[in-house]
Amino acid sequence: MKWLKKYAVAGKDAGSTTNLSIPTVKWQDIGGLEHAKQEILDIIQSPLQSHSNLKTRSGVLLYGPPGCGKTLLAKAVATECQLNFMSVKGPELINAYVGESERNVRLVFERARQAKPCVIFFDELDALAPNRGASGDSGGVSDRVVSQLLAELDDISNASDDEKDSTSNKGVFVIGATNRPDLIDPALLRPGRFERLVYLGVSKTHEGQLKVLHALTRKFNLANDVNLKILLQNREFNLTGADFYAICTDAFMNAVSRETSEGDISNKQSHQIVVCQDDFEKAFNNITPSVSAVDLERYESLQDSFN
Ligand code: ADP
Repeated sequence: MKWLKKYAVAGKDAGSTTNLSIPTVKWQDIGGLEHAKQEILDIIQSPLQSHSNLKTRSGVLLYGPPGCGKTLLAKAVATECQLNFMSVKGPELINAYVGESERNVRLVFERARQAKPCVIFFDELDALAPNRGASGDSGGVSDRVVSQLLAELDDISNASDDEKDSTSNKGVFVIGATNRPDLIDPALLRPGRFERLVYLGVSKTHEGQLKVLHALTRKFNLANDVNLKILLQNREFNLTGADFYAICTDAFMNAVSRETSEGDISNKQSHQIVVCQDDFEKAFNNITPSVSAVDLERYESLQDSFN
């Protein structure tokens, strides 16, 4: 995997923190989100499978509250479609020196072309590409970054069919993520660019919540008394995937403390720790939802306006 090292170093040279990796997140690690999975696969798999010269879609934008699986899903797509994964945090590409920010954007796409098939995951896209003309853009940095990004995305949707050509964009896919799609420059959301917007929110049914719990406890050694359905009874629908992750980690730590108090566990592997219903109950009782009810409502109203 020499090349992986090479690109990781190249990322540092450019002063940006682009991170190229081969993720290991599988579909089984994701609870629910089937609609989002399918939307992304439609965009990514069809150009991979087809050899037509049809215009390809450049990208998909995942939006919604933090902790609802945007990064997780993008990584799973890369794993399952056997693509390299380049993660870029929007604000980290912004550089105070004139011309450097747009150069960073250009370099990201250049590296992705060298590592294709590759997904570029732009996290916090709103910080990288805010609405142009908005106040507070000193020196027009945002203007230039957005223009560069638009040019790169247009190149992708007009990509030539020659996969082996290192200057061709065929095999480069872009997934954006944001909590605030309303702050993104609207030109980025036009056809051929981030034309699919997919909302990822909190589960609104107990079945949905159960799927998340099942995915997160996949590798747990659960006691016979564990009934995840009962744990969810009478719960509100205000927990994100990240909150469920915190609950499961907490339940596991409760199990470790309990087993430690019962005897020596220093020779045990983590999969030998048995997590029981009571460990989960305690964890559920301790959780404070990471997104407030008011914020959730705000995110959902954004979904209505973008639908
Ligand atoms: P976002 O990018 O939307 O802020 P992440 O994808 O980083 O959120 O999610 C944070 C963590 O929450 C993930 O690493 C995962 O452990 C957990 N998580 C979120 N959504 C799900 C889900 N649908 N199924 C399983 N785990 C989830």
